[in-house]
Amino acid sequence: SQVPFAINEPVRSYEPGSDEVKSLISTYKKMWKEKIEIPMVIGGKEITTDEKVDINSPQDHQHTVGFYHKGTMKHVDDAINSALAAKEKWNNLGWEQRAAIFLKAADLIAGPYRDRLNAATMIAQSKNVHQAEIDAACEFIDFLRFNVEFMTELYSEQPVSDTGIWNRSEYRPLEGFCFAVTPFNFTAISGNLPTCMAMMGNVVVWKPSDKQVYSAKVIMDILIEAGLPEGVINMVFTDGKETAEKVLAHPDFAGLHFTGSTKVFQSMWKMMGDNIHNYKTYPRIVGETGGKDFVIAHPSANIEAVATGLVRGAFEYQGQKCSAASRAYIPKSIWNEVKAVMEAQMKTIKMGSPEDPSNFVNAVIDKNSFEKCKGYIERAQNSKEADVIIGGKCDDSKGWFVEPTVIVTTNPKYESVCEEIFGPILSIYVFEDEDWSATLKLVDETSPYSLTGAVFAQDRYAIDEAYKALENASGNFYINDKPTGAVVGQQPFGGARASGTNDKAGSKMNLLRWVSVRSIKETF
Ligand code: GLU
Repeated sequence: SQVPFAINEPVRSYEPGSDEVKSLISTYKKMWKEKIEIPMVIGGKEITTDEKVDINSPQDHQHTVGFYHKGTMKHVDDAINSALAAKEKWNNLGWEQRAAIFLKAADLIAGPYRDRLNAATMIAQSKNVHQAEIDAACEFIDFLRFNVEFMTELYSEQPVSDTGIWNRSEYRPLEGFCFAVTPFNFTAISGNLPTCMAMMGNVVVWKPSDKQVYSAKVIMDILIEAGLPEGVINMVFTDGKETAEKVLAHPDFAGLHFTGSTKVFQSMWKMMGDNIHNYKTYPRIVGETGGKDFVIAHPSANIEAVATGLVRGAFEYQGQKCSAASRAYIPKSIWNEVKAVMEAQMKTIKMGSPEDPSNFVNAVIDKNSFEKCKGYIERAQNSKEADVIIGGKCDDSKGWFVEPTVIVTTNPKYESVCEEIFGPILSIYVFEDEDWSATLKLVDETSPYSLTGAVFAQDRYAIDEAYKALENASGNFYINDKPTGAVVGQQPFGGARASGTNDKAGSKMNLLRWVSVRSIKETF
């Protein structure tokens, strides 16, 4: 059998005044007032509890858009048991039957659910129209469709045989259940982690971030409408640490698919180490865990391209992408020009609620993030080693708004150059042109992370030198482009070092982690 050939979902442009944008904004306004109630989903049933947690919008923190039902460890137990109970039937289902569910889910997002999923992402995660569209709609659709195609390619990969011998590979799901822990910053990632494990025949306990419950609920609605059987993916809203302790101590735990902070991932890895003797099988561990992504420009770089790459790479979605440009190294000879173009571009940036599609920058996710950003900005304002040259205003009177901010520092190891902030703050170090090679070394050595990075240059020898010197400094390397916005099927995404296990989201390499291959030799 063949599946439909996957192509990237076309991104809607949402031109001002277009029907597309009117429809999306009217859905947003309706959902803003809906006061939605969000249950957990365990064993196909909606589960409510006595603990109701308000969901407040980052762009208006006094406005409650609804609430979710928070669960306890009893619910986590129920989720594990429901997953295990669903396992046999799900495993016995042919791959075509599984594929059809996820292809249908992709079509539902592309059509009837597109506005609702985008609007939930705009309301509760504070993404603008375009950032919601490339994430919740397009990237999630791409994950689903490409993964189905990758799955079929993978299953068809078979070893060589010979006369009298037939060798086969059987791609079995993992023995046990899987655990998906997903972040607030990408609805597509939140949807991809549990679905790609389920697609490969696994049963899943899924714990979304408490900041992303709204769009997670819409995802679950879509999966159920697409025909996902009960118990295959169980969605719990529970305390993160307690849940991890419970799930990772279970003998049938078989795989972790995680996107979130390095600290949490490392603590979960330790828990798995502590439980290693209890497991039936060694668990698969896949994690994507943060970044401190670089941009380095060469004196030969195109000024406009550098400035645009920095502004978009650093400030789209308020810098809350693991891939965001957060430290830049600019040669002195072009710095004044780069700065002038950046200033001109940043003057045109509007900040505010996503309800107005002309707002490029929206709110950061919560109070903690707001305070963290404010701290970095204030310390830079008072530092002898740093200057805030653009932006710097923080206003939490209505929402968690942090102005896109550029810090220039004379110390290449200054805190904002080295630490992950996850906000709209870009740190720039200006280097002497003749220090190009030394600066490449500095880029490599400054951060423990290795997720994304970009070089801007016209000189081919310079590009090649950066390409080689920064070989291990990122998992996704961009030449003359911003380091964000990897597209499924085009730039498999992920990084190594402190950024993760580099199992490339939305690729065959990732799907391979969720199967356990049986090699069969038959002689005639
Ligand atoms: N894949 C996204 C990008 O390329 C980033 C994902 C993340 O922030 O985790 O921009």
